[in-house]
Amino acid sequence: HGLHERATAGSVVRAVARGETRPELSAYTDFEAYRLSDGYRLLVNCLQGRVPVESILQRLESAHLRGLGGAGFPTGRKWRFVRHEPGPRLMAVNGDEGEPGTFKDRHYLETDPHRFLEGMLIAAWVIEATDVYIYLRDEYPAAREILRREIAKLEEAGFTEHTRVHLRRGAGAYICGEESAMLESIEGKRGLPRHKPPFPSVVGLFGRPTLINNVETLFWIRDILEKGPDWWGGFGRNGRTGLRSFSVSGRVREPGVKLAPTGITIRELIDEYCGGMADGHRFKAYLPGGASGGILPASLGDLPLDFGTLEAHGCFIGSAAVVVLSDRDDMRAVVRNLLAFFEDESCGQCTPCRVGTEKALALIDRPEWDEPLLADLARLMGSASICGLGQAALNPLKSVLTHFRDDLREVLREETGR
Ligand code: SF4
Repeated sequence: HGLHERATAGSVVRAVARGETRPELSAYTDFEAYRLSDGYRLLVNCLQGRVPVESILQRLESAHLRGLGGAGFPTGRKWRFVRHEPGPRLMAVNGDEGEPGTFKDRHYLETDPHRFLEGMLIAAWVIEATDVYIYLRDEYPAAREILRREIAKLEEAGFTEHTRVHLRRGAGAYICGEESAMLESIEGKRGLPRHKPPFPSVVGLFGRPTLINNVETLFWIRDILEKGPDWWGGFGRNGRTGLRSFSVSGRVREPGVKLAPTGITIRELIDEYCGGMADGHRFKAYLPGGASGGILPASLGDLPLDFGTLEAHGCFIGSAAVVVLSDRDDMRAVVRNLLAFFEDESCGQCTPCRVGTEKALALIDRPEWDEPLLADLARLMGSASICGLGQAALNPLKSVLTHFRDDLREVLREETGR
């Protein structure tokens, strides 16, 4: 099978408009180097019937690997669900990585692409997918070039005989990282989220049962299967298990992708992995999960960063895009920036989100906030929006109203003299 690369509507136009040329590639582990470290031995064993599917599913379940794209659904269970659906089955890989502050998938694709590709092909083998669609963020030309080259080598080596691999380019819309909008985009349509149920594992791409996994989730499959669930479970801190790739940005001395134990706290992450706060900045607040995961104050800097922990404070970890803010940051400006982002990226399909994001932005631009009205709007958008964008769009606003009231009062005093 040839590699099927197709751009989604808009991406080619954007690429041409940018005058895009061939990207420069940094050194990465290519097919030959990966093979030297026993790469694809596991896949070959699977393809030759030497590994029972059940043992793979059990290992993933024992390791408690959860989807690292943001939703945190147990990976083994998801594979099992899709496998039980009637064929033909398909697979889609979410490499859209559009959450502001997230860049871990890019890091893995640009350094060790075959660890991800082997995990992907093992997943495809487990669910017996006829086709795999990789949906890649359009702003990642180097990752695209690497995937194009390396998938061609896989095909030549005969590793894709059980499943066809398609590479799809996104077109720059944040909403296409939402899994059902991504499916629409892959199908060549406008990226509008679907109502759920039915879930993609039952009715997904082209109406077929579809397994959707994030790039990083698949990246860890080989290591977990080869080294065992105890290896993965041996990491972790503060009562949690496993590893997480935190994309850390903001006011720290050394931002970047930090592979750290699940459950680490933001204070530990800053001090042990990021060289501390940037000079002249005092830790004040943090976004634990990109634009939509809310904002927490430094006083809650000792919470374990993990799924299911931050929700009690109206926040979530999502894809672990951690943005560190300091005493030099204006919280009102932060909220405005995030709301403007959501207003811009709302796909416009449903009224609560399309109108609500615009209205919220207008309301917070007034010197004095109408809090009952904002609370009403947040409730309505949270309960009546079709997808997570509209449901979570006012999270940063709610966070500021909960944790940063003093900042609001200060700005108000400055603006009104009261
Ligand atoms: Fe589109 Fe917003 Fe509705 Fe989601 S909530 S479907 S982004 S309009």
